[in-house]
Amino acid sequence: HIEPAEVMTQLPTQFFATLVQKVNREISAGHDVINLGQGNPDTPTPQHIVKALQEAAANPLYHKYSPFTGFSFLKEAIAKRYLEDYGVVLDPETEVAILFGGKTGLVQIPQILLNPGDLCLVPDPGYPDYWSGVALAKAKMSFMPLRKENAFLPDFSTISESERERAKLMFLNYPNNPTSATAPLSFYEDTVKFAAENGIVVASDFAYGAIGFDGQRPVSFLEAPGAKEVGVEFYTLSKTYNMAGWRVGFALGNREIISMINQLQDHIYVSLFGGIQAAAAEALTAPQTCVEELVKRYESRRNAFFSGLADIGWNADKPGGSFFSWLPVPKGYTSVSFADLLLQEAKVAVAPGNGFGEHGEGYVRVGLLTSEERLQEAARRIGELKIFR
Ligand code: PLP
Repeated sequence: HIEPAEVMTQLPTQFFATLVQKVNREISAGHDVINLGQGNPDTPTPQHIVKALQEAAANPLYHKYSPFTGFSFLKEAIAKRYLEDYGVVLDPETEVAILFGGKTGLVQIPQILLNPGDLCLVPDPGYPDYWSGVALAKAKMSFMPLRKENAFLPDFSTISESERERAKLMFLNYPNNPTSATAPLSFYEDTVKFAAENGIVVASDFAYGAIGFDGQRPVSFLEAPGAKEVGVEFYTLSKTYNMAGWRVGFALGNREIISMINQLQDHIYVSLFGGIQAAAAEALTAPQTCVEELVKRYESRRNAFFSGLADIGWNADKPGGSFFSWLPVPKGYTSVSFADLLLQEAKVAVAPGNGFGEHGEGYVRVGLLTSEERLQEAARRIGELKIFR
């Protein structure tokens, strides 16, 4: 018997594993399950990006170790995209780090900045990988509730004096997983002020930064004046270009933190395969038609699903960004009992909100990750449940 280190036992349990098991049980029993439970983009990477990888794979330059902080052309490509999309100026060599997906950086930043026992402010509900990074750093979490009445933004005025003193890091994530809320620039201006006053580093998770609806472009944390003094933003190609399997992400902003991220990465990974870096640069520099199409596709799906929900009398707020919807469960149900009901009776899988934290109780998260027809079919099936009739 081999005992794991204590820190391994502190890692949060992967609640998606339970969901996958339940869904698989239904599928093996022969049911046609509409799976809206997970966050895996369902359409392929655009062809021009795949082609760029195929060509780059034949280039012997990329067969050796890549430069340890990655190729300059890729850092320049992301800096150019941020300038074009968000008006944010970044120095490619000192303010950009290339990561193995956004997740690597999100899990590493607590290890880079926190000593055992230090405090990290974490949104609740929130993306569970923040918990993993804090656990690996042997640090502690203090949850910032995201409430509907505050547009799912944390209310800094409720953070106590002792939390302000002990906290060294804070995670934020807009467009938000799981609530699908977006943040206005004024919120980030307040964030910079709060962070500077209290000596807290901000880690902004901008994984859904390209996905905003109704003509609204999501706001980057780095657009707020002074943001680079207090934090970094994590960006990823996973959702913007349907490249989740390629594992390409970035940390952007504060140079001291970027340098520490590069230092840690060098000890662990060296650098991404050069061919993938070449294809990632193609994704970022080619005309962005594929991104416009992707956003339109999610918006049409959102509209189809919400018109289906309206038809069955389930009125909920439409998401302004991300590819999730965050739906309050009917009276008398918990997140889990309602998700179970949908799976068992309607064969529609959704993620129970409490898997994202205590304040996710009372909601389910629905991924808009299948066709409009299937989303409408899901709403129709839900409408046949006794509680909606
Ligand atoms: N952040 C959020 C909120 C996410 O939902 C995800 C992926 O689901 C990630 C970060 C990680 O993305 P990746 O590691 O693929 O870049």
